[in-house]
Amino acid sequence: MLRILFRIYFLTAIALVVFGYIVAHSVRQHFSSEMERYALDRTSGEIFLLGKYLDSAPPSEWLARFDDYKRRHFIRVSLIPMKEAQAHLSQEKIARLQHGEWVANISPEAYFGPAHRPPAPGEPMTDDVIRFDPVGPKQVPMMVTIGYTSLALLMMLPMALWARHLWKELDSLSKTARSFGEGQLAARAAIAKRSPVYPLAECINDMATRIESLLCTQKELVHSVSHELRTPITRLDFGFEMLLKQTGGDGISSRIRSMQGDLAQLNELVNELLQLGRLDQPQALMRSPVDLIALLSDCASAARHELGAKQLELDLPPLLAAIEADARLIDRAVGNVLRNAAKYAERQVRLSAVKVGDGIDIVIDDDGPGIPAAERDRIFEPFYRLDRSRDRTTGGFGLGLAIAAKAMTLHGGTIAASDSRTGGARFVMHFPV
Ligand code: ADP
Repeated sequence: MLRILFRIYFLTAIALVVFGYIVAHSVRQHFSSEMERYALDRTSGEIFLLGKYLDSAPPSEWLARFDDYKRRHFIRVSLIPMKEAQAHLSQEKIARLQHGEWVANISPEAYFGPAHRPPAPGEPMTDDVIRFDPVGPKQVPMMVTIGYTSLALLMMLPMALWARHLWKELDSLSKTARSFGEGQLAARAAIAKRSPVYPLAECINDMATRIESLLCTQKELVHSVSHELRTPITRLDFGFEMLLKQTGGDGISSRIRSMQGDLAQLNELVNELLQLGRLDQPQALMRSPVDLIALLSDCASAARHELGAKQLELDLPPLLAAIEADARLIDRAVGNVLRNAAKYAERQVRLSAVKVGDGIDIVIDDDGPGIPAAERDRIFEPFYRLDRSRDRTTGGFGLGLAIAAKAMTLHGGTIAASDSRTGGARFVMHFPV
């Protein structure tokens, strides 16, 4: 917020000073003669009285009178040689001064007039000039600086209030964008119509609505197609069974069995797609008290088949309390990750659970090829597989981790991949409790 405030503030303050200077300068340029006339009019009484006072003095008392006037008067008055006065005046004013006229400068304000000082005995004719400084020339820049500084400081207050308000609204917009990016497709910015950021909020909301509707349509399409595929798959499976019964033990039977294998894979894909689709529905999560340790032990037993000769080490301390969760979804999520670990491990897999600050971490380690750091986020996207040749031998459609991630998100938890100390991949599934 401070960055916005300072940027706006400095820009405005600099613009104010620069434009203020330009405007003041142009006004002085354009109206210099009027302003001089006005200034001389104001001081004409003073000049008249001073002239009368000095002119009536005998020549020997002239300087004493001038000093007396100077002492009594609150205006700074000085007697300067013509040369010094010329340094402050334009050519036109010098000429007028030499003709015996009073002239004035506006900024800094100063008046110059012929002194008519009688020369001292033996002194040649004098051309001294009387100079009036209503405000000391050094005080003018100081007053201008104080004026502008006070103005700049006072401006800070309304601007800080305005910047704070603007910052709050921008912050709310960025929170909406972040929530939307994190998958909360219903997130929308609530900004008042009179706000300057309302058009931006409207654009973000429109965009969010369009993306939400596109994603919903896409999900519905995948779900409907998967659903529609189930019936023909079942019919085909039944048809293959009938065909097998009618054929003898020749080459056709092995072709039919291979086709049945393909069909089983297709069926598995459709089932996984339907699973993934169901996790998007609001009623997907049904919480009840779950004994996590018992559930994890069941997952470990279910993965035995996948493990074959590989070892599975368990570290499930009985201290972990029951949690409120959807047992079916946790079983599915942990099962998917554990089966992957069993598939990719060289020799051993480790399943452990540990209580952490705000929940429970389920950790699955293996000693397989691991997951490159650059892919660790993408493997949770549907259909994303690392190395297709690697997966052809291990099977899978790239949906297992997407289902696990959705199940975790529904519980308000997270899942993340990293390096394992055993050399392969580590998956940490965090449940907030
Ligand atoms: P699949 O059903 O194809 O295994 P997943 O979504 O479960 O799909 O996994 C996505 C990809 O992540 C896998 O294809 C595999 O390349 C990689 N992967 C998952 N688990 C591991 C693991 N423990 N070790 C190495 N690679 C893994």
